[in-house]
Amino acid sequence: MCCDKDKKGKVIIFSAPSGSGKTTLVNYLLEYKALNLEFSVSATSRAPRGTEQHGVEYYFFTPDEFRQKIAEDGFLEYEEVYEDRFYGTLKTEVDRILNSGANAIFDVDVVGGCNIKQFYGDKALAVFIMPPSIEELRRRLVGRNTDSPEVIESRIAKAEYELTFAPRFDVVIVNDDLDKAFGELLEVVSDFVSK
Ligand code: ADP
Ligand code: 5GP
Repeated sequence: MCCDKDKKGKVIIFSAPSGSGKTTLVNYLLEYKALNLEFSVSATSRAPRGTEQHGVEYYFFTPDEFRQKIAEDGFLEYEEVYEDRFYGTLKTEVDRILNSGANAIFDVDVVGGCNIKQFYGDKALAVFIMPPSIEELRRRLVGRNTDSPEVIESRIAKAEYELTFAPRFDVVIVNDDLDKAFGELLEVVSDFVSK
C-alpha cells in the first residue's frame, strides 16, 4: 500500500509564505541527526534554477511527463499553480523514506500542506512558519536578493492569502528572532518524533 500510515516513520510538514525563513529553519533542523529526518524531494514541471539538480532540489519533469504521472496515480498530492506549472509529492518518494524508518519532511505550499496533514492525521505534524509582519517579510525578500521587485510584490500579495491558512496547522512558529524560533521548532519536532 502506498504511503503506509502504519509505517514507523512520521511526517513533518512545513508551509510558509515565501521569505518567512522556512528554508533557513528546515536546514538547521536537518543537521540534528538524532531526529532521523529525511527531506522529501517534490516533483515539478518548472525549469531548474541556478545550480538546481534533478533528484536534489526537485525531480524535474516536462508538463507532459507530469501529466503522465498524474494519470498513473503517482502523486500523494499535486497542484497546477498555473497552466503547465505543476508541483507534487510523489508516492514513491514518501514510500522510500517511510520504509527506511526515517521521518519525512515536506516543504510544500499551504494547500499541499493541509492535504498531506489530512491524509496522515495524527501521524503528521503540520508546522506553519509565520513572518513577524508583512513589512518584515518584504525586507527579508529584498535582503535575500533573489527576486525582482515585481516578483517580490507578487509574493507579498500571495502571502496575505497564505497567512489565512495558519489556523489549520498544528503549530504556528513566529520567526522573529531566529534563535528563539529555532529553539521552539526543535522542541516541538523533538517531542513529536519521540512520542
Ligand atoms: P523561505 O524559505 O521561507 O522563502 P528563507 O529561509 O530563504 O525563506 O529566508 C528569507 C530571508 O530571510 C533569507 O535571506 C534569510 O537569511 C532571512 N531570515 C530568515 N530568518 C530570519 C530572521 N529570523 N530574522 C532575519 N532574517 C531572517
Ligand atoms: P519554488 O518554485 O520557489 O521552488 O516553489 C514554489 C512553491 O511550491 C513553494 O511554496 C513550495 O513550498 C511549493 N511546493 C514545492 N513542492 C511542492 C509539492 O510537492 N506540493 C505542493 N503542493 N507544493 C509544493
